[in-house]
Amino acid sequence: SVSSLPKTMKGVQIEKTGGTEVLQLKTEIPVPEPKEGEVLVKNEFIGINYIDTYFRSGVYSPPSFPYTLGREGAGTIAALGPNTPSDLQLGTRVAYMGPAAYAEYTPVTANYMIPIPDSISTKVAAASLLQALTAVTLIREAYPVQKGDWVLVTAAAGGVGLWLCQLLKAVGAHTIATASTAEKRELARRNGAEVLLEYHEEDREKFVKKVLEVTGGEGVHAVFDSVGKATFDSCLAVVRRKGTMVSFGNASGPVTGFALARLSSRNVKLLRPTLFNYIATREELQQYAQELWNFIEKDGLNVKIHDVYPLSDVVRATQDIESRKTTGKLLLQP
Ligand code: NDP
Repeated sequence: SVSSLPKTMKGVQIEKTGGTEVLQLKTEIPVPEPKEGEVLVKNEFIGINYIDTYFRSGVYSPPSFPYTLGREGAGTIAALGPNTPSDLQLGTRVAYMGPAAYAEYTPVTANYMIPIPDSISTKVAAASLLQALTAVTLIREAYPVQKGDWVLVTAAAGGVGLWLCQLLKAVGAHTIATASTAEKRELARRNGAEVLLEYHEEDREKFVKKVLEVTGGEGVHAVFDSVGKATFDSCLAVVRRKGTMVSFGNASGPVTGFALARLSSRNVKLLRPTLFNYIATREELQQYAQELWNFIEKDGLNVKIHDVYPLSDVVRATQDIESRKTTGKLLLQP
């Protein structure tokens, strides 16, 4: 029952947007009460995602202050609000996506929560859900990848990137992957990418030539680009006629001021999707989560965990992911 919960908890909040200096570890945050349709999760692991840095820096706007960062976690259900689904009970192990995850307890709308199968650890679930579901929905919905397709993935050794490399391999596509260091490119190769390239930001022609060389002069069927501003032009340049350009992140800054007429030279389709609009209903989340668990169990896909940081090391963890030195998933532990 709720009465057995502590009154206050640890959590990471910001009072304004800015650099990592605005991150505040607080110890006396009131433990939230779950509202209608919500359950309260006692977090065991908290997933760090690049989006957390956008809310902290101001690329995206927090709805109000103080704002508790974080979008993903996994643990056990500690309290139930009114009218929650019957598969969610006190003590159920769950993974979720939703705000205010950088804390000991997080109230979560049932729509964004999924029970964790017995075969999957709480740690793996926390390390997978948001980034892996992003990758699954990208290859199924943003561009439904077919066997034999050529696909370009940027930031391929990152959290989402390593999932994309593995999933594309599992569905029989050929992946061209970019990442900023030789070690990262080697990791992408070990996760299924076939062709490894530098970004060649200073020499776009060189990049385009290399991609055209490996794709028989035609370019790729699809691009999944999360770097944004720095790579958008070179990615668009290598999409084949009737191909698809999916821009789904802003790690180097947002893409702005795009002239639609640029698409007509090869009838390119352009998308800027978010995961949350692919899993807006509980049925959609369950369907894609099931597909993810199947990939993990049957195809042997795995999550590379970069490091697990104590919540009190949130500044170091944030600096690490922003420094481009991490690969795979970063986790916090309350
Ligand atoms: P990553 O682990 O991929 O970390 C970001 C990576 O971006 C870095 O490791 C780095 O790889 C690359 N990068 C390129 N340029 C820069 C730069 N200027 N500064 C920092 N990093 C840079 O993070 P995530 O897996 O959490 O997210 C990957 C991307 O996917 C993000 O852009 C995120 O916003 C987006 N995303 C979008 C979602 C959606 O719904 N649309 C959902 C989830 C993620 P390298 O050094 O190799 O270039």
